[in-house]
Amino acid sequence: MLRYNLSYWERETFFKGFDVAVIGSGLVGLTAAMHLKMRDPGLRVAIFERGVLPAGASTRNAGFACFGSMAELLDDMTHLGEDDVLAVVEKRWRGLQALRSLVGDATIDFQMLGGYELFTDDEEDVFRECVFRMPDFNEKIGAITGQPDVYSVVDERLPQFGFRGVQHLILNRCEGQVHTGKLVQALLDQATALGIKIFNGIALRKLEDSAQGVELETETGWTIRVPRVLVAVNGFAKTLLPDIEVTPARNQVLITKPVENLLVEGCFHYDRGYFYFRNIDGRILLGGGRQLDQAGEQTGEFGPNELVRSALVQMLKTLICPGTPVEVDTWWTGILGLGPVKKPIVERYSKNVVVAVRLSGMGLAIGTLIGQEGAEMVLEG
Ligand SMILES: Cc1cc2nc3c(=O)[nH]c(=O)nc-3n(C[C@H](O)[C@H](O)[C@H](O)COP(=O)(O)OP(=O)(O)OC[C@H]3O[C@@H](n4cnc5c(N)ncnc54)[C@H](O)[C@@H]3O)c2cc1C
Repeated sequence: MLRYNLSYWERETFFKGFDVAVIGSGLVGLTAAMHLKMRDPGLRVAIFERGVLPAGASTRNAGFACFGSMAELLDDMTHLGEDDVLAVVEKRWRGLQALRSLVGDATIDFQMLGGYELFTDDEEDVFRECVFRMPDFNEKIGAITGQPDVYSVVDERLPQFGFRGVQHLILNRCEGQVHTGKLVQALLDQATALGIKIFNGIALRKLEDSAQGVELETETGWTIRVPRVLVAVNGFAKTLLPDIEVTPARNQVLITKPVENLLVEGCFHYDRGYFYFRNIDGRILLGGGRQLDQAGEQTGEFGPNELVRSALVQMLKTLICPGTPVEVDTWWTGILGLGPVKKPIVERYSKNVVVAVRLSGMGLAIGTLIGQEGAEMVLEG
């Protein structure tokens, strides 16, 4: 790491006079900074991002515009009460509408192709439980979305997708998908147009809050003082705020080369959402599987996990595309921010520091609202 002091010119020109510094340029950091500027155009807002591009989850996810498949929500209810789980669903639903109206469906290739949940032979019990709870879920989630019959069993569609070993399919007809890269690009462009200054390649090491404001220490050895800070570093929060309850969790993702006559269309969850796949540009994107090596994937470092990767390839070839030649084009990893319950943290950490982190696997849906909530808290301070 390059380490040197700021010159007088650099300090007085580039880093002087900011009112708020946002740490992290993922979905939360970008929407928070934009909200600050929209609420008070006179504010001088800077974003400090350690990567050349955002380097966490926002440009590395699956692009599911989803707010809850049934087995996932039933699993969530074993850790969190039903009211709390429904409150998160409501936030995911509202968050998706907020995101879509902020950037526009066409910009992010939003497509309402539906979200499906797959059930294999050994999941008959879970499927039965979902069917039993479906009328109740349709009523409660219908009240959130304003849509009747959000969930339905659509086993008759199984032949059209060509899966092997899948016994049942439950459709959430109100879920869609987006192009993750175009989404973040659009937010970066909008943020820049609003006059937000984005500094890439600046990693924060430490922050210290005092009566004079917040002193930010960077990995390069610079110190920059700002009156107020919003920390939006999600899975990496513990490196800056050691006592915060956030654990990083890595996810492996693959994309195939284009598949001839691809049958898969829509977003699919399997095993309570631990595995997920979708179509994109005639290819399959497939990810997840961290439950196969929880300890190994509890890391903020990007990189492969061979155990998980071979399970994903196996799933691709035997369950998703049996009998069709399919080749992996490339792999990547992304880092989630998790906690003991699936609920984000938006709170005042100290007098001048607000934190908005721990978005689990639902940041695309709730990120916009979490960013806005964090920004409002900064403005109140
Ligand atoms: C593989 C994968 C698939 C997913 N699929 C979906 C999905 O389909 N649908 C969905 O809703 N959600 C999904 N998610 C979750 C979603 O992507 C995240 O919840 C969301 O992107 C979190 O946004 P964020 O801004 O909080 O965090 P991030 O996007 O992680 O942004 C945090 C930023 O902070 C920066 N940073 C960290 N430390 C520092 C530091 N010390 N100094 C400066 N900068 C720092 C990082 O570089 C990063 O850019 C998925 C996540 C992963 C990993």
